[in-house]
Amino acid sequence: MLYIVGTPIGNLKDLSLRAIEVLKGVDLIACEDTRHTKILLDHYLIKTPTTSFFQHNRFTKADYILGLLKEGKDIAVVSDAGTPGILDPGYNLINLAIKNSLEMTFIPGAAAFVNALVLSGKPAHEFYFGGFLVNRTQARKNQLEKLKKFNCTLIFYESCHRILSSLEDIKTVFGDKEIVVARELTKKFEEILRGNPEAVSNKLVKIKPRGEFVIII
Ligand code: SAM
Repeated sequence: MLYIVGTPIGNLKDLSLRAIEVLKGVDLIACEDTRHTKILLDHYLIKTPTTSFFQHNRFTKADYILGLLKEGKDIAVVSDAGTPGILDPGYNLINLAIKNSLEMTFIPGAAAFVNALVLSGKPAHEFYFGGFLVNRTQARKNQLEKLKKFNCTLIFYESCHRILSSLEDIKTVFGDKEIVVARELTKKFEEILRGNPEAVSNKLVKIKPRGEFVIII
């Protein structure tokens, strides 16, 4: 059985009882970064062997994991934070399992965009999750112009390095619209900033943006 296991997005206590049980019981845990996952496993005294499974070895490693699954082994796959497959490795392993008719299940855990959407107070019955905005400013503005036509809540992930330039482009495209920026969700410095892009940007400049961000428009 392949277990896709959702893990915390910051607060180690956000690991479900079922996830702990599965991580203790499987033969191997495929981790995005074994050192990172070790912190979580040590916290719960989980001694299961781990192997790395990340963006750059995902094809060769997926074949290895597939071989073990075919031998009848139980494997769990986790990412550094949150849900595997959501902008993290997992997608191609899931598809290999489907192609090979292997048994698979998902043990739900955190996904940063869900926390941010809930806390934003923005309509959640219809939303568009866009992952990371593109890197270059003109391309990003073009991307935002297209998405502006969607009549629903828009959600993006962003890093501390790009949050201010993305907000600048959001201001250009969306003007005065009230947005929400959620940072460090579930962590000690969790913060939800509301206001137009300029106001949110000004607040962030003051605190020198650090950490991980979700933008809701
Ligand atoms: N798999 C993860 C999930 O389920 O949400 C997403 C991984 S993606 C590589 C990392 C991005 O998710 C970060 O750059 C940030 O935008 C967002 N993120 C992850 N943890 C977060 C947190 N605690 N607070 C705010 N955003 C977070």
